[in-house]
Amino acid sequence: MEQLWKNAHLYGGNLSYVEQLYETYLMDPNAVPEEWRDEFDRLPKVGEQISQDIPHSTIREHFRYLSKNQNRSRPVEVSSVSSEHEKKQVLVLRMINAYRVRGHQVADIDPLNLLKREPVPDLDLRFHGLSEADNDTVFQLGSLFFGPEEAPLKEIVEDLKQTYCSTVGAEYMHIVDTQEKRWLQSRLEPVRCHPVLGAEERSHILERLTAAEGLEKYLGSRYAGAKRFGLEGGESLIPLMDELIQRAGRDGAREVVIGMAHRGRLNVLVNIFGKNPAELFGEFEGKKLIESSGDVKYHQGFSSNVMTAGGEVHLAMAFNPSHLEIVSPVVEGSVRARQDRREDPVGSTVVPVSIHGDAAFAGQGVVMETFQMSQTRAYKTGGTIHIVINNQVGFTTSRKEDSRSSEYCTDVAKMVQAPILHVNGDDPEAVRFVTQVALDYRNEFKKDVVIDLVCYRRRGHNEADEPSGTQPLMYAQIKKQKSTRELYAKRLVEASVITEAQSKEMEKEYRAALESGEHVAKSLVREPNTELFVDWRPYLGHEWSFECDTGVDLKLLQELAVKVNEVPEGFAVQRQVQKIYEDRRRMAAGAMEVNWGFAETMAYATLLAEGYPVRLTGQDVGRGTFSHRHAVLHDQKTARCYVPLQNLADDQPRMTIFDSYLSEEAVLAFEYGYATTIPNALVIWEAQFGDFANGAQVVIDQFITSGEQKWGRLCGLTMLLPHGFEGQGPEHSSARLERFLQLCAEHNIQVCTPTTPAQIFHLLRRQVARPLRKPLVVMSPKSLLRHKQATSTLEELAQGSFQPVIPEVDQLDPGKVNRLVLCGGKVYYDLYNRRAELGLENVAIVRIEQLYPFPEAILEETIAQYTNLESVVWCQEEPMNQGAWYCSQHHMRNVLHRHNPALHLHGIGRPHAAAPAVGYISVHLEQQEALVNEALNG
Ligand code: AMP
Repeated sequence: MEQLWKNAHLYGGNLSYVEQLYETYLMDPNAVPEEWRDEFDRLPKVGEQISQDIPHSTIREHFRYLSKNQNRSRPVEVSSVSSEHEKKQVLVLRMINAYRVRGHQVADIDPLNLLKREPVPDLDLRFHGLSEADNDTVFQLGSLFFGPEEAPLKEIVEDLKQTYCSTVGAEYMHIVDTQEKRWLQSRLEPVRCHPVLGAEERSHILERLTAAEGLEKYLGSRYAGAKRFGLEGGESLIPLMDELIQRAGRDGAREVVIGMAHRGRLNVLVNIFGKNPAELFGEFEGKKLIESSGDVKYHQGFSSNVMTAGGEVHLAMAFNPSHLEIVSPVVEGSVRARQDRREDPVGSTVVPVSIHGDAAFAGQGVVMETFQMSQTRAYKTGGTIHIVINNQVGFTTSRKEDSRSSEYCTDVAKMVQAPILHVNGDDPEAVRFVTQVALDYRNEFKKDVVIDLVCYRRRGHNEADEPSGTQPLMYAQIKKQKSTRELYAKRLVEASVITEAQSKEMEKEYRAALESGEHVAKSLVREPNTELFVDWRPYLGHEWSFECDTGVDLKLLQELAVKVNEVPEGFAVQRQVQKIYEDRRRMAAGAMEVNWGFAETMAYATLLAEGYPVRLTGQDVGRGTFSHRHAVLHDQKTARCYVPLQNLADDQPRMTIFDSYLSEEAVLAFEYGYATTIPNALVIWEAQFGDFANGAQVVIDQFITSGEQKWGRLCGLTMLLPHGFEGQGPEHSSARLERFLQLCAEHNIQVCTPTTPAQIFHLLRRQVARPLRKPLVVMSPKSLLRHKQATSTLEELAQGSFQPVIPEVDQLDPGKVNRLVLCGGKVYYDLYNRRAELGLENVAIVRIEQLYPFPEAILEETIAQYTNLESVVWCQEEPMNQGAWYCSQHHMRNVLHRHNPALHLHGIGRPHAAAPAVGYISVHLEQQEALVNEALNG
């Protein structure tokens, strides 16, 4: 090795060059000049086999050492190679590498030809010490470049240009893994990114383009000016999607789930999903389709089955709001749910496809969050196919210096080392090719991959919008631009694949099919195999009801409690955790009152025993932010993990519990997607602190609280949001109860503030035991997790159900009660204890544990016994402009009015405040004392 460095006169700047040479050697020793091969042969070997990584790093180390410790100022002179020719041979290899790394930067990917590209010096012969004089010299290629063994320089450059600088710009050299890079090279280079297609395949592409263009033209003339966010300029998306789905089906996928924004959506629905055009026309005419508030047509989801060479494939288009990128993690959640249902941990049976717009892909943070989930245990789906409909403008913003700081809109994908295949939308054959490569890469490496479909937007942001005011040059060019279909038809006519007349006939046929209101997706299966998707019928059409028996046989409860507290032989449990488990064993034996952690764990254990899968994710859920759960045990000697809930029985359903990465937006969207896809599971997202949920506000507003009303999609997701005023300052006190209550209407969600272990037990069980699927928002406790009075008995778990209202617990004489305090959450215990200190017998305290849907009738019944009331208050810890006061008081007033119209309700809480809580503990305590006293004494 020493010899190599001595002879080579290399210095640090050449590190990457030798690495490249070495990489080549690893793939094919004969592809490098003999002198180099001899040196590489002498490198250390790992085991019997040459490791591709270890020697690689050894070289690096050695190289760095040399460049630091020896005075090497001369640039690379490849003097280890003997002849002039061999020197040049090495330079050629270096040039090939340059094309792989930077070829995409000059590729012809913009159909409008307006994209400004910086010159790339590395792609010039002279940069590599070569010149046109070498054009006819034949150089060895070996397997360095996939193609002929040897070729004249001129041809090598031609091939490189065709592969890396024509209508495909393949960006993948940022990938660290050699195998992945070589795999991509082996797909791109032999065919120069332009495989030769047969007449049938080419006609099929034209037929798909005809459909894409035909639909837009038809809608444009029949509903002129109506918003449809047409695909015009990006029509290649349709042959792309067609190829993707057909190939996925051929390779064994049984479902494909697609998320996309409005652009081109109607086209995909009609031409790919086979939505009946007549139905779409009905939507254009404003017909009411479902018995709810509904949504605009370009947000609607859809499902259908199509036939592929591998059998029937179920397609699902996710419903989505206007918030462009947020649908991506929803799709991931839906896909993971389907993969879980199919017991497919690898992800080959269900393929996620995320279609993005260029501006949003570069701009919105949730894109990064979604990429970040792609390889994590809780969220991975075996790789997502990302397609960017890159029309090079975001509404009216097209200047690159305004819309992003990165070179491409796709640069964010490099964070997970995804290959990025930029492709010119006006070369539909290249589009088809990159689609195949992308899907095969996903299937091979189980990683995300991006297709950047560079196209344009023929009209404005929508059809009523005039774009030339803000994009004059772009639209001057677009006016002149022939459509993708027209260009491709011309190409096929010129190649004698079809005649002009056949091309015209294709257009006519499509239009006639549309006019007749027929389905226009030829692969649509008219009588779909329903086995491919979940039957939601048992969950449909249930009215809200408070009734639900969630009791469990006491014996079963105890048996499960024993199991769930068992730890394998020799497993070294941490000391405090050991104590928690010991206490739980005593609770199971009835020797100790049940606490929150026990009750919650038993809710999961009993549901699993009854056959319901459970999925619990969020930041730190394994232990619980406040150390109450300890559902995941860590062996103190080996760091091995053990989850008792996963070891209850051999045939138990799936129990998933994972700490999430530090995201709120994408992870909550994911769980929404999961819960809307699996109806029989308890799906829970827990916030580390309740106020962190505001990082996911778009998911709460756009999906969780309104998805059923807009789209008819049921969702049983549970959100556990730690909430309570405990002097921790403005953050971490409030889960912003008021925000959820303000969103409540039409029985859309449930908002609960349980105060006892038995209540959380029954509440969680109720969430799946009933066929009703409604999101559940729980203001869950922090200090109450350990509060001595917040306990229950085993019997309270075994019997009964969730109580929306908890009546006064002390034996007061109702006739003596002249003051009623209504409250919810932790403040109850402060009120109760203060009342005891004051010895008040005239004040009853009633807890409202469910704030929405509000249990008016139950409350009315509960307070009926208090016939001598003179005053009634609602007491809350939150400032009076927050908490339940504004949004729930009308329910309490209704009840009071029916009880005694002379009574008025007074609200008591912290003073109105801009922040949720004060930052000083002394002020906090003063406020707390004042509100409790005022509630009890008036
Ligand atoms: P998908 O697998 O998402 O395409 O769903 C298949 C069918 O199941 C849909 O066409 C709906 O009829 C029904 N479905 C799916 N998800 C839900 C949901 N969250 N709520 C109600 N029905 C659903």
